[in-house]
Amino acid sequence: MSCPICDKDKVEEFRPFCSKRCADIDLGRWMTGSYAIASQDPDDDDELMEELEKKLGEIAAGGPTGDGSKPH
Ligand SMILES: [Zn+2]
Repeated sequence: MSCPICDKDKVEEFRPFCSKRCADIDLGRWMTGSYAIASQDPDDDDELMEELEKKLGEIAAGGPTGDGSKPH
């Protein structure tokens, strides 16, 4: 089985992906939902990473899923 994002050989640490980047990309696709990945252009990956970082920032800034480890 190979990385579902880029088809390279997977790496155990990041399985089923080949790298953290691909894992993040997959997460980004999942999180952004309707963000359609119509092409495989590397430029689109960069846009997606920006979108993902924005989403992660929103969550870190006060998402409802806080684990209480953050001091007030
Ligand atoms: Zn990959």
